[in-house]
Amino acid sequence: MSKMRFFALNELANRKPIEVVLPSKNLSDYYSSHVFDKKTMQEFLPKEAYMAVLEASENGIPISREKADLIANAMRNWAKGFGVTHYTHWFQPLTDGTAEKHDGFIDFSDEGDVIERFSGKLLVQQEPDASSFPNGGTRNTFEARGYTAWDVSSPAFIVDDTLCIPTIFISYTGIALDYKTPLLKALNAVDKAATNVAQLFNKNINKVSVNLGWEQEYFLVDSALFNARPDLSLTGRTLMGHSSAKDQQLDDHYFGSIPPRVTNFMKDLEIECHKLGIPVKTRHNEVAPNQFELAPIFEDANLSNDHNQLVMDLMKRIANRHNFNVLFHEKPFSGINGSGKHNNWSLQTDTGVNLFAPGKNPKGNMLFITFIVNAMMMVFKNQDLLRSSIMSASNSCRLGAHEAPPLILSVFLGKYLTNMLDTLEKQVDDKKMTPEQKTALKLGIGRIPEILLDNTDRNRTSPFAFTGNRFEFRAAGSSSNCAASMIVINAAMAHQLNDFKREVDELIDKGNGKDEAIFKVLKKMIKASKSVRFEGDGYSDDWCKEAEKRGLTNINCVPEAILKYETKSAKQVLIGEGIFNETELRSRVEVELEKFIKKIQIESRVLGDLTINHIVPTAITYQNRLLENIIGMKQIFDKEEYEHLSEARRSLVKEISEYVSEIKAQVKAMTEERKIANRLEDIEEKAFAYSNKVKPYLESIRYYVDNLEMEIDNEIWPLPKYRELLFSK
Ligand code: ADP
Ligand code: MG
Repeated sequence: MSKMRFFALNELANRKPIEVVLPSKNLSDYYSSHVFDKKTMQEFLPKEAYMAVLEASENGIPISREKADLIANAMRNWAKGFGVTHYTHWFQPLTDGTAEKHDGFIDFSDEGDVIERFSGKLLVQQEPDASSFPNGGTRNTFEARGYTAWDVSSPAFIVDDTLCIPTIFISYTGIALDYKTPLLKALNAVDKAATNVAQLFNKNINKVSVNLGWEQEYFLVDSALFNARPDLSLTGRTLMGHSSAKDQQLDDHYFGSIPPRVTNFMKDLEIECHKLGIPVKTRHNEVAPNQFELAPIFEDANLSNDHNQLVMDLMKRIANRHNFNVLFHEKPFSGINGSGKHNNWSLQTDTGVNLFAPGKNPKGNMLFITFIVNAMMMVFKNQDLLRSSIMSASNSCRLGAHEAPPLILSVFLGKYLTNMLDTLEKQVDDKKMTPEQKTALKLGIGRIPEILLDNTDRNRTSPFAFTGNRFEFRAAGSSSNCAASMIVINAAMAHQLNDFKREVDELIDKGNGKDEAIFKVLKKMIKASKSVRFEGDGYSDDWCKEAEKRGLTNINCVPEAILKYETKSAKQVLIGEGIFNETELRSRVEVELEKFIKKIQIESRVLGDLTINHIVPTAITYQNRLLENIIGMKQIFDKEEYEHLSEARRSLVKEISEYVSEIKAQVKAMTEERKIANRLEDIEEKAFAYSNKVKPYLESIRYYVDNLEMEIDNEIWPLPKYRELLFSK
């Protein structure tokens, strides 16, 4: 056995659970203790400064320099109580994860003495060097300098000795270089559009906010084993590995108890989350062995997204404390269930109404139906754009690939809603409705049962499912930033609602009554978007065929999917709703293509190294052993006996030779293709070359390696195997 694998297994055998102590029996004693939240602000800030923060966060009114100084000073005083010495502007560049640049509070006073200072200027704005963050092509045409600016709507928090201030990140010329900036714009756009539509029903509605509740799936792998797998540690997934004799067939993991080492990790994580005011609530096993899920109570989308990013960071660090590595890759193990990040999405009015929840009376239900139908229409019109928001090298291993669910964007509504829409479609007629028809319709709509709220016939295979009072977007990958899909969903919803409102207004102008106008447009939309509704098994082959007949799109190629960000209709949404300008959109596409190229490039290199330096030599060692054995046999047996007894060994030698030759030839061919691709200047051509010419080798080389793994003596196999990675406790 290689030393690497031997030591890893040895270390694993000696692991003990790391004990965790609750800070207090009462959660409320420490919940949000490390957040400069409203309660803390009131305690530390003069009233006028506190009001300024509220005004800024709720109405976007700028904070004056004087007040910013007051706030910064109060923040520092509060943070000092926790031994904080540094501060950072915390932001979400277009890479995966977050970035921060730490600065000390240290400063010189006017007299030249060393003092601690944190001014309003430093709180509000900072200038990290943007050149090391991805910005697509904008670097060539624009200055690389960027700055971060305080997002007042998300509170500052403390991690270790650092005060973290959530910020947006934009280039010196105003180009957004992060996820937060366009997310805030999309939330604003949907607020305006949804408010206008909601006012058709209730004039008292003045604001619509977006709720997001994410569910984060992940795998845990023991750190020693993780480090002994260069593919896992360098690419986040296993590039080889034969599936274990026992994997998830028994499905006993989902309901099984959580091993103590993992429970302690989860407990530790929850404590840290709660200190940071992140309302994590559920934790459970997932379908695959060593796969788990964490979900908080939903929050305002911007805050919820910050919290998801923060949680992912915390998870990595706390996992290390417990000698685990957390895997966010969407498909770390081939043949085993992948990890997603479900985005539970709903719209809520300032009058406290969830627009995706059935109302208490016919009028409320009309409002509900209006938003449901618009959401459905939004998906129908924006299938490609929605897909582009979740497509990546890693998520494409989980969706749309070999043995993976297809990437068709359909909507699941459940039996009740489906029947209701069918009734609505039939009931309303193009000609003027009689009063009786109207009453019938209203009664029909009035009868949405409460049962909907626990919509039990949930369909787990639908990428966009209505789950009683929200939609659940399940195509997003576990490693993604929720903002990527939230930007697109909310921008597209804003666009859809604006279209809807315009059509309704036009009909009213033509003399239709308001209700009638709404019915007419809804009916048209129900008809038009029918093909996007699907209640069956979204993972089946039949569905792929059926979807094709219906004209729904299904794109597996990553660069092709990403480029759908720039179709005419996508631009109408993203540029039309003011989320991006042309340059920003182009830069985003280039960043995504670049990420894809880099990921495949790294995977291909790592696979090449591993096979040539670890797998092939091991295969040859084993082969030599077999050869010695065969020669020995020849010496002691007579010809007939020898031929009979050595046959299996001889054919094994042949098989191993063939696999080894195949691996060497394919690695060489893959390297050649990589060289050709690397010479391409055009980023799109390069991405397609990586997708079509390089990526297929990852699968085909793996096939031979996995076969070798089955043939070669377990004792000398160099890498920890699937059963060790997945079933170690
Ligand atoms: P599931 O059965 O899908 O695993 P969970 O109860 O684990 O459901 O979590 C679903 C997520 O949906 C949680 O984050 C929860 O807070 C969130 N959620 C519930 N209601 C809403 C809503 N109205 N809007 C947005 N998210 C919601
Ligand atoms: Mg869910």
